[in-house]
Amino acid sequence: MTALNTFLSQALQERAANNLLRVRQQVDSPCGVTLQWQGKSLLNFCSNDYLGHANHPLVKKAFVDASETWGVGSGASHLISGHSREHQALEDELAAMLGVEAALVFSTGFMANTGIISALMSAPDAVFEDRLNHASLLDGGLQSGARFSRYAHNDIDALSSKLARVEARHKLIVSDAVFSMDGDIAPLPELLACAEQHDAWLMIDDAHGFGVLGEKGLGAPEHFAIAHKRMPIYMATLGKAIGTFGAFVAGSRELIDYLVQFARPYVYTTAMPAAIAAATRASLSLLQTESWRREKLHELIAHFRRCGEQAGLSLMPSITPIQPLLVGDSEKALRLSAALREKGFWISAIRPPTVPENSARLRITLSAEHRVEQIDALVDALHELLSSET
Ligand SMILES: *Cc1c(COP(=O)(O)O)cnc(C)c1O
Repeated sequence: MTALNTFLSQALQERAANNLLRVRQQVDSPCGVTLQWQGKSLLNFCSNDYLGHANHPLVKKAFVDASETWGVGSGASHLISGHSREHQALEDELAAMLGVEAALVFSTGFMANTGIISALMSAPDAVFEDRLNHASLLDGGLQSGARFSRYAHNDIDALSSKLARVEARHKLIVSDAVFSMDGDIAPLPELLACAEQHDAWLMIDDAHGFGVLGEKGLGAPEHFAIAHKRMPIYMATLGKAIGTFGAFVAGSRELIDYLVQFARPYVYTTAMPAAIAAATRASLSLLQTESWRREKLHELIAHFRRCGEQAGLSLMPSITPIQPLLVGDSEKALRLSAALREKGFWISAIRPPTVPENSARLRITLSAEHRVEQIDALVDALHELLSSET
């Protein structure tokens, strides 16, 4: 074996020995609440397609029609020749629906987060992040070269005292709006007040709130009745509730103009296909025309929590479609996930380093496409498995 392969296989063996090895399962059907896998039909309780837009006929049609018009590849980056009328229309619609000056679409949320933070912050600055923030936000903070610190989860007092202690040219607070592995919501009003008090900038990642929270689905700010234009840097993704692909940042004209110049993952990458932008526009209009999806989703969340609590499941405090069941031990989480699959449910085990040590969990997610009976069946299966475990 070469030195490279020796190194690689040792790292893999160590991961496997700790029950942390990830395995990709091949599915034979589109994203939906039922998945085909190895000839079986499984109920999917772990996708982020909260509204069922990913395989929606109108979204698919917009994609197919636009691919007739625009072809598939965009052929270049946005600053060369890849920025189409569809991309611009998507940005204009996002800005209008959020009531902000401008929006900028990125190819992925990961790129948006590393790009935004690295473009804004550098060595003389300081970045403050919730310790449960998404990996892309943490990586953005680390890459930026700014002084980097993490504060205790949703702890505004801890954040405040860190802000008061640190001297820096600019300070940036960064938080998930809905925590991706826990489902709880960051206290946006307190974060805003804290940022104002300490002259810090605030960036919010609403990957799991946009489309889901608020009466119109405009996300965590709407949930708290905060106008989006009060949020200095609002970012959300398009591959979750919106069901397509990509991400955007919304804010002032100056913010967007600056990022077009300086966000390297925006500048140095091929523009997303125009047909994806078109499909995303169709999906955004469904937020209005099919608002029943959001209402039904919230009814299903309430139903799951009610039945889950009756069945003695120790659910985490979440009103979002992310309803994790904390297990602790990684090996036990894997065993439960495998047992659920035997019973016809697809729920992957989430383990470190995605979540902190000893906090492996089953990350259950709900979708507007689920039926009440399917949720009841899941609660029964969980109840049965967990009672036989202890
Ligand atoms: C999924 C996710 C991202 C990354 O978005 P992609 O478009 O999938 O790259 C960023 N932030 C949070 C909180 C996420 O959950």
